[in-house]
Amino acid sequence: MELPCEAELQLLFARLNYQFFNGEAPDCAISYNERFSNSAGRITYSDRPLAIELSSKHFRKDPEALEETLLHEMIHAWCFVKYRDTSHGARFKAKLRECGLTSIYHDLGNAAPSQESKRRFILRCEQCAFETLRRRRPQSPASCPRCNKRRFDPRFPLTIYEVLELRPIGTTLEGAFAARRGPR
Ligand SMILES: [Zn+2]
Ligand SMILES: [Zn+2]
Repeated sequence: MELPCEAELQLLFARLNYQFFNGEAPDCAISYNERFSNSAGRITYSDRPLAIELSSKHFRKDPEALEETLLHEMIHAWCFVKYRDTSHGARFKAKLRECGLTSIYHDLGNAAPSQESKRRFILRCEQCAFETLRRRRPQSPASCPRCNKRRFDPRFPLTIYEVLELRPIGTTLEGAFAARRGPR
């Protein structure tokens, strides 16, 4: 199944904006990200325009979920410009219901809401692309353990990214069983 191209995504965005937001959702740059494998969509608030990225890998398997995921991210964009709110809190949920979506996870999984609110950080070395996931923001200076294996080295700092969106899209068991249960 072929995915809509990025120009078509902008048209879909415009239609949803007209239909559900009275045209008040802010401009967003929408693109596919080939590397997402454990989230369906993501919004980044630090860029202007806001950036919405969709997992091409995920939607090739589940094209019907694309519109809902885009709508979900648009609600985030709308909550952000209107209230500076980036959560899945009361305002987000009210708008979600207004848009006819029922679950903040729609069809992508069913993790408990408590899991959603946990903060996560990715530390990334921009020089060698080393990445590691942390529950806490690092409190002391750290440097890339791959670029200098032996000691702290300020030439190789790690950039801290906060993970803003964590949405389950399945478990690793499905893949593991499929691989293991092949013909013998
Ligand atoms: Zn490195
Ligand atoms: Zn969300």
